[in-house]
Amino acid sequence: MTVPAEGGAPAGVGPTDTDWADAVAAVRALSADARVLLICHVNPDGDALGSMLGFGLGLRRWGVRHLQATFPGPPEVPEPFRWLPGLELLVPQDAAYPDPDLVICFDAASESRLGDLVDRLDKAGTALVLDHHASNTRFGGIHLVDPHAAATSVVAEGLLDRLGVPLDAEIATCLYVALSTDTGSFRFEATTPEVHRMAARLLATGIRPGDISRRIFDTRPFGAVRLFGEVLGRARLEPAAVAGRGLVWTYATQDDLARYGQPAYVLEALIDSVRCTAEADVSCVVKQVAAAEWAVSLRSKGAVDVSRVAVALGGGGHRFAAGFTGRGTVDEVVDRIRAELDGALPARSEQLP
Ligand code: AMP
Ligand code: MN
Ligand code: MN
Repeated sequence: MTVPAEGGAPAGVGPTDTDWADAVAAVRALSADARVLLICHVNPDGDALGSMLGFGLGLRRWGVRHLQATFPGPPEVPEPFRWLPGLELLVPQDAAYPDPDLVICFDAASESRLGDLVDRLDKAGTALVLDHHASNTRFGGIHLVDPHAAATSVVAEGLLDRLGVPLDAEIATCLYVALSTDTGSFRFEATTPEVHRMAARLLATGIRPGDISRRIFDTRPFGAVRLFGEVLGRARLEPAAVAGRGLVWTYATQDDLARYGQPAYVLEALIDSVRCTAEADVSCVVKQVAAAEWAVSLRSKGAVDVSRVAVALGGGGHRFAAGFTGRGTVDEVVDRIRAELDGALPARSEQLP
């Protein structure tokens, strides 16, 4: 679930003054009866939900009365986020306004991350995109896409500020969950002075970082603790892979989840235990979502741009954290990853230390 954003400075540029002005104008142009639909990416993580709900609460304070938030797929919020302020804005995707006046997308790098909700982009009067993926495909109409931002919530806070919406504890809680999720609790390279300045602004509203961190990072059912034991026990280390940088990987099946009575979301945290492996630069967790379909998480400590690997295999993400949907058997999926990794190492002169 924790998602390191870009570590090295990417080539992409953030929003221009015109982009910000267009986004502010799109909100200011809303009539009193306007319907606004917020959408975040499928299988929402802390940044997707936190930036969407925090911004949604801000829009409500700003005066938007007809406001819905949604995401594709089953309308279930992962347990660690079931206490977030603003959850009352959520509706199942089928109940979402079919033709909103304004649609705003959060943390989605491409339309494919919006699933069946993608049709709302065309049907909406205006489509505004808030994101921080370097791989963002520039779908939608107005783009607030900042590849230098540690989380989409950084962009969301910037827009709330320009709209003149003050932070309160509820908005700040959501934005803090988003910021701490995508910086791995302020540990990843993306943790810039600006990230800490934003965290300071959020904390100044009186929110309790200890409570928030315990709920989203340090709480899991005992069954999940035991499931992790079994799944970590079958991890494989391949020191020769990635031109000697090393690959570590494991997998979890639906049967594993059933044996321990666990929902799929508990596996999101698994990559954080696997990527600790000192002997491997690249780590990978392959999680079964259907008979021959797997959600794959990739992480790198710096030698490899795993977003290139993920994009080559139909997915996306950031340089040091990426993912894709794999098809076939576990071995087939991992074979494809190995093959892409072999071709993914940058030239020696470009390699990070
Ligand atoms: P995860 O491993 O699920 O925590 O995701 C890590 C990063 O990869 C996030 O930035 C995701 O947005 C991105 N990502 C994961 N799965 C996919 C996918 N199937 N397609 C595109 N991007 C993905
Ligand atoms: Mn995300
Ligand atoms: Mn994000």
